[in-house]
Amino acid sequence: MTGSKALKSEQAEKKHILVVEDEEDILALIHFNLSRAGYRVSCATSGEEALRLVRAHLPDLVVLDLMLPGMDGLEVCRTLKKQPDTARVAVLMVTARGEEADVVAGLEMGADDYVTKPFSPKILLARVQAVLRRGEKGLESPADGKVIQRDGLLIHPGRNEVLIDGQPVELTFTEFQVLRFLAGRPGWVFTRYQIVNAVRGDDYAVTDRAVDVQIVGLRKKLGAYGSWIETVRGVGYRFKD
Ligand code: CA
Repeated sequence: MTGSKALKSEQAEKKHILVVEDEEDILALIHFNLSRAGYRVSCATSGEEALRLVRAHLPDLVVLDLMLPGMDGLEVCRTLKKQPDTARVAVLMVTARGEEADVVAGLEMGADDYVTKPFSPKILLARVQAVLRRGEKGLESPADGKVIQRDGLLIHPGRNEVLIDGQPVELTFTEFQVLRFLAGRPGWVFTRYQIVNAVRGDDYAVTDRAVDVQIVGLRKKLGAYGSWIETVRGVGYRFKD
C-alpha cells in the first residue's frame, strides 16, 4: 500500500464524535483532546442542537454532558435511544460527582458508559476508545454461548461450568448467570436492574437487592478472581476490563 493510500484509508476510518456541552471552556478542552487523538469532532452547546446534528449526520459516538440548559442530557439520550435510526449511536455521558441516580437512569436508557467531572484527558480518551471498540464488536449479546477465558478463570456457558486454574467452582444457577453476564462484557457498567433483567430465571424472581447477595456469594467462591467483579458505587457492577 502506498503512503497516500494508507493516509486515505486512515481518514475514511476516522471516527466521528459529537460533543455536547454548554460550558464553552470544557467543550473546547474536550474538542482539543479528541481532535488531537485523531477523531473528527463536532460540537453542540444544547440538547436541541445535538439532536439536529445527529439527525443531519449520524456520528459514531456522542459525548453527552447531562447538565444542559433546556433539554437535559438524559432527555437527549432517551430521544436518541428510542428512535430506531439513532438508537445505535454510542453515548458516553459526562456527569458531575453525586449524580449517580442520573448515571443509573442513563445506563438503563441505553447509554454506553460515563465519565465523572473533573476528568483528565487520558481518562476521557480511554473511555471514548473503549466505547467505540465495543461498538465495533457489536452490541448484541456478545459472548453468549461462547467460552469466556480470563487468565485462569474459564466460564463455559454450554456446560454451565466455571473453572479456576482447572478446578471446578460450585455456583448456583443464578450466580452462574450473573457471572457469565458480567464477564461476557468486561468493562461495561451495569445497574442492578439491568443485571436482574439479563439473568431473570424462570424459577424465581431476582430482585435488585438479591443481585448484591449474588455478588457477595460469587466473590467468595471465585477467590482471587472475586475482586474482578467491581462495585461501582451508587451505580452497579462491572467486570474488570
Ligand atoms: Ca453542562
